[in-house]
Amino acid sequence: MANKTDKTEPELSELTLRQLKARRRRLARGLPDLEAVLQGSVVSQRRRCGKEGCRCTRGELHGPYVYLSLGRGRGDTRLLYVPSSLADEVQRRVELTDAADAALREISAINLELLRRRELA
Ligand SMILES: [Zn+2]
Repeated sequence: MANKTDKTEPELSELTLRQLKARRRRLARGLPDLEAVLQGSVVSQRRRCGKEGCRCTRGELHGPYVYLSLGRGRGDTRLLYVPSSLADEVQRRVELTDAADAALREISAINLELLRRRELA
């Protein structure tokens, strides 16, 4: 394994106890309003309506329409239609949720490092 030259941030193991706890506090304070959490990803698709003689049968598809893609793992994905009036809000919440997920993973990694040092507090 080569050294991780692509990483600009120091490894958690290189940080002091004080630095780890400061980072953990900053991450926890930066967490968004968790009541807004909405998992999934926003996708935009053009569709055929299926009506005979419609322009979409000639390749002029309808849309684009916004959907929330709900991946349930193992290729099992469901699409939920999002009305355009709610598209911006859904997009905002999905981004906020991704940021919260990343912050939670990092807080957990810090706590794991603290546990290794027997300093979990
Ligand atoms: Zn059509």
